[in-house]
Amino acid sequence: MKLVIKFGGVPVKDGDSIRKDAELVVSRYKKGDKVAVVTSAMAGVTDQLLEMAHRLIEPRSDPKQLIPEFIRQISIRHYRACQEAIKKVEVLDKTVRNIRETIDLLERALTGISYLGELSPRSQDLVLSFGERLSAPILSGAIESLGVRSRSLTGFEAGLITDDHFTEARPLMDKVRKLARQRINRIWAKKEVPVITGFIGGTEDGIITTLGRGGSDYTASILGAALGVDEIWIMTDVDGIMTADPKVEPSARVIKTVSYIEATELAYFGAKVLHPKMIRPAMDSNIPVRVLNAFRPNQGGTLIIKEPNMARDIVKSITISKKVSLITVGGAEMIGVPGVAAAVFDIIGRAGIKVLMISQSSSQADISFVVDRKEADLAIRALRAEFERRNIGWDISCERNVSVIAAIGAGMKGTPGVAARVFGTLGRNGINILTIAQGSSELNISFTVDERDAVKAVRALHSEFQLDKAG
Ligand code: ASP
Ligand code: MG
Repeated sequence: MKLVIKFGGVPVKDGDSIRKDAELVVSRYKKGDKVAVVTSAMAGVTDQLLEMAHRLIEPRSDPKQLIPEFIRQISIRHYRACQEAIKKVEVLDKTVRNIRETIDLLERALTGISYLGELSPRSQDLVLSFGERLSAPILSGAIESLGVRSRSLTGFEAGLITDDHFTEARPLMDKVRKLARQRINRIWAKKEVPVITGFIGGTEDGIITTLGRGGSDYTASILGAALGVDEIWIMTDVDGIMTADPKVEPSARVIKTVSYIEATELAYFGAKVLHPKMIRPAMDSNIPVRVLNAFRPNQGGTLIIKEPNMARDIVKSITISKKVSLITVGGAEMIGVPGVAAAVFDIIGRAGIKVLMISQSSSQADISFVVDRKEADLAIRALRAEFERRNIGWDISCERNVSVIAAIGAGMKGTPGVAARVFGTLGRNGINILTIAQGSSELNISFTVDERDAVKAVRALHSEFQLDKAG
């Protein structure tokens, strides 16, 4: 079988876990599988790199102190991981040398940024790329140390060519398909296991790009599609995609199968297991994706495929997005005025703010939308400034502490009465709904409630649709 196996998060937190990842890869290799491995940075490293880059461009930062201290910490963590993960001395030496060279490059990049005092999207991508460029050689070394030949390569070296939309680059699929096949097949032909950095690609000229935060899943899917593998495995620290966040609803269980479109909705609505963009390439090539717990890989996890038999489950999962705010633009002056929505979302879009949910009453007396709570003030300021400039008298109000809850499942489509059950349940539980939206795809019904009602709402719906019972 041909497989892409991706590791991220807790499974790459230290050398011991990396060694276990290597053991899994080696066991598949010994079964005769052709495996391409994709890895994230060691847990937390990308955040640390980003924070450091930002600190260096603060006006009174002290790079002479900041950079050496940071380099020291990064070095300790990665050298220690090498030692824990790699037992064969020659492999260990080679890997440590490789890590040292990469850390030198990182130091130079940070120094450059501190001199310039500015962080362009392009240099940010360069700095963030070091997380994966440091983790991939360690995992590759751990595999070699177990007696299987392996080599690490960057996304770019593996053929992941992107456009130059730094920080959110898009793959140029035609090129990727051709190059990735050539390069990975060549490695497979030598009976080696390629370990590829997730999250990073490169422009055609070889300038490093990133696919957006959490993008290693996306790498796995892009490469899996390009190589035409049999399955893509996402190895993480949870048992799969769940019927609800188990911290909110303890009786939540793993969903055995979901369709690609359901998985996309789930990824988008707060089930943080997968990157939302990762489904598309797999779906287009009809490649099954499995979400597995790296610590219990035999438990089955969640299988994402085209059309699981979904007749029985109308609703598959109740998701919750916390820490969001609801902004409402309204007022009698708006009624019947064309172009209100266009004006509002144009302003919000130009401020670079992502809208998570929209609802508008048919009286057109107001239009509400949800944004990340961190961006609420920015959104309000942008609207106020523009309304003032254009002399528009619409009111702006904001409910700061709300949550978006969504009931998701493809079985809702064409099944009457689901909304009635959702809202009836909330009514019986005395939960006040602020706004409601249902996409015309009928895959989800979403609504906002005061944050204090959110847990109760999730639990009531989870029980109403009997999601605690095996489906
Ligand atoms: N290391 C990158 C991030 O933290 C990509 C990933 O982990 O998927 O965003
Ligand atoms: Mg992730």
